[in-house]
Amino acid sequence: MKPIIVADDFGLCHKHDEIIIKLIKKRKINAISVLVHGELNSKRINEVREMRDYLSIGLHLNLTMVLPKIEPLGSIETLIVKSFLRTLDTNEIKKKITSQIRTFMKIFGTLPDFIDGHEHVHILPSIFEILTKIAAEEQFSEKFWIRSPTTETMADLYRELSNAGLKVLIITALGSRAKNKLNRLGILTNKNFAGFFSLKSPSKNFKQKYVNLLNLNKSNLVIMTHPGSLDSPTHNKNHSNEMRAIEATILNESTIHLS
Ligand SMILES: [Zn+2]
Repeated sequence: MKPIIVADDFGLCHKHDEIIIKLIKKRKINAISVLVHGELNSKRINEVREMRDYLSIGLHLNLTMVLPKIEPLGSIETLIVKSFLRTLDTNEIKKKITSQIRTFMKIFGTLPDFIDGHEHVHILPSIFEILTKIAAEEQFSEKFWIRSPTTETMADLYRELSNAGLKVLIITALGSRAKNKLNRLGILTNKNFAGFFSLKSPSKNFKQKYVNLLNLNKSNLVIMTHPGSLDSPTHNKNHSNEMRAIEATILNESTIHLS
């Protein structure tokens, strides 16, 4: 059973996008999640639109990262606290989500195949409720899905915990709550999820752990990846270009072939 291997942060930087496009052409990636306020240019957009037959294109909802054309709501830490205190500006969130969906439509000519969030922001309480309301109102295709960053079994959870540490527990708790709500609402979501890692530097045996993920044989599995280039001018202390380049190399050398 073929997984959905999704490259997050498409549009962040043209150097990263170039690498991601090469991986799509080699059938190592079959989905991209797009930051609509990033560095997308018409050449890249046309390339991606031509790969529609074997590529899903989703909206990578961004409420936390500073990009040239968007003012974020705050850091992920701030949004977590505010979402639990229920002090988020819900009108502002609704405006931001709707505007990113509209921008996506302008760029690609269609609604997104799926929605997820940069730093999993879409599953935070309040934000998730607004997103599901919007999902019910928009004319998404019947195959539209929202990503649940949560594993199915305890063994899967243990694997992710050992790969990425305790942050997985917080995301899984919120992700499980979101997944239950999606199931109740009849909105499609993935059953399995993999791909949590430290984004600063590779952990011990990183390559082997990553290859193991690519070879997981699970139904309805989404594997989150962040391939990119070492030469990118974007420098983020929490997500290094080194990590993106290592992921790209492993994906490129892997035996996986997605059709
Ligand atoms: Zn992201």
